[in-house]
Amino acid sequence: MNTQNSNFQALELYEESFRNSVGTMDETGRRKWVYPRKPKGKFTNYRDYVTYLLLAVFFTLPFVKINHNPFLLFNVIDRKFFIFGQPFYLQDFFILALGAVTSVIFVMLFTVVFGRIFCGWLCPQTIFMEGVFRKIEYWIEGDRNKQMKLDRQEWNSEKIRKRLTKWSVYAVLSVVITNFMFMYIVGYEEVFRIITEGPAENPLKFLAMICFTAVFYFVFSWLREQVCTLVCPYGRLQGVLIDKQTINVYYDFKRGENRSKWKKDEDRKAFGKGDCIDCNQCVVVCPTGIDIRNGQQLECVNCTACIDVCDEIMVKVGLPKGLIRYATEAEIENQEKFKFTGRMKATTVILGLLIGFLGFLMYDRGSMEAKFIKPAGSTFFIKNGKITNTFIYTLLNKSNEKKTLTIKVLNPKNAEINFFGNEKIILKGDQILKGNINISFPEKEIRFSKQNMTIGVFDEKGNLVDSFDTVFEGPFQLVL
Ligand code: SF4
Ligand code: SF4
Repeated sequence: MNTQNSNFQALELYEESFRNSVGTMDETGRRKWVYPRKPKGKFTNYRDYVTYLLLAVFFTLPFVKINHNPFLLFNVIDRKFFIFGQPFYLQDFFILALGAVTSVIFVMLFTVVFGRIFCGWLCPQTIFMEGVFRKIEYWIEGDRNKQMKLDRQEWNSEKIRKRLTKWSVYAVLSVVITNFMFMYIVGYEEVFRIITEGPAENPLKFLAMICFTAVFYFVFSWLREQVCTLVCPYGRLQGVLIDKQTINVYYDFKRGENRSKWKKDEDRKAFGKGDCIDCNQCVVVCPTGIDIRNGQQLECVNCTACIDVCDEIMVKVGLPKGLIRYATEAEIENQEKFKFTGRMKATTVILGLLIGFLGFLMYDRGSMEAKFIKPAGSTFFIKNGKITNTFIYTLLNKSNEKKTLTIKVLNPKNAEINFFGNEKIILKGDQILKGNINISFPEKEIRFSKQNMTIGVFDEKGNLVDSFDTVFEGPFQLVL
């Protein structure tokens, strides 16, 4: 009995031993270079379509404008932000903050139910690595075995030619992609201007571009899967976010074990053998160098390459597909078919509501924003039976159109405004304007030392475009 127990413990320790090491490092801690086999199959095709679509969007969006505004721009240098063509100002910070909080909740809920689908299908790292740079590598150096052979061989003419070609294409691509990324920060016009004027006119900007290009090149030519396995914080979050009900790429261990090599015409069931023929193809195809048969691991980016390769093997040996598939751990344990559970439906509805809420916030900002603030240390003054307060106004035109505005006090009644000039205020599109006004009331109108007051801003058609609540100060009066 004791021997049986210790054997069982030893087996458990052996099965968990893969957790003591990283798939891309050897025992001495040195990097093990991953040469994934070129994937092919249904999921690879779908992922290719998604990749082409996302790349087309990435290379097109910087040139798309809505109402003469860039579709997306995050100009942190000049603090100019455009999302879906809508300008965002520091005054809209709460929307961006709320948007950031909503996005975090979105990502967490999404991950709880749908696992790392984002990593495999949408993450820019995977899109560029597997969809662009890896494809170029296959094209120049060939598939896994040829790459391994090339790595081992001397620096002969073939190796020099292939490596130089690959590195040159990588470098050109890094320059192009980095320039497009810059377009999302400063706009395409600015990037074209910098390129046309040359480094002598814009030394710092050129230096920034060279640095970013070098980082980009380094990430995709050398760092590669280490970004997902060691650097990315989202990957680290998986451990706490996923559970047995989360959809992920799983190996069906109930069906696959007891794994054993394939023998033609053998009745595997009769010998108690599982469907896994231990061909190791799911390991050699994995871009993060892991063995999915060890269970869910943080290194798995849900790229689906192992699903495709295992399906291919299953078809070849005449066994049902889906030994590795999208599933939940609970489904695998209970040998159930995939179900879109109530929890998934509820989470999907909540995710939809969150997106709707964000959309509502973005479109409900109005095209004008007005603020009326008292100058620091100012107070009221009384002249000719009138009490007067001074205000500094800040008017922000969030649209592209010129606006002619007037200011009126909506409450209390009988206010007089001294504009110190023209009472029509002209504001160009996307302009912030500051100025002073004096607001006066007959003494009898002001019954409190601090009287609530609402100031309205009207456009040329007389429509109220924004209002601001503030207080009007007067002398202390005893109200009976
Ligand atoms: S590809 Fe499929 S059959 Fe081959 S080792 Fe992996 S799980 Fe087993
Ligand atoms: S285990 Fe499969 S899905 Fe996960 S990264 Fe490796 S090949 Fe991709």
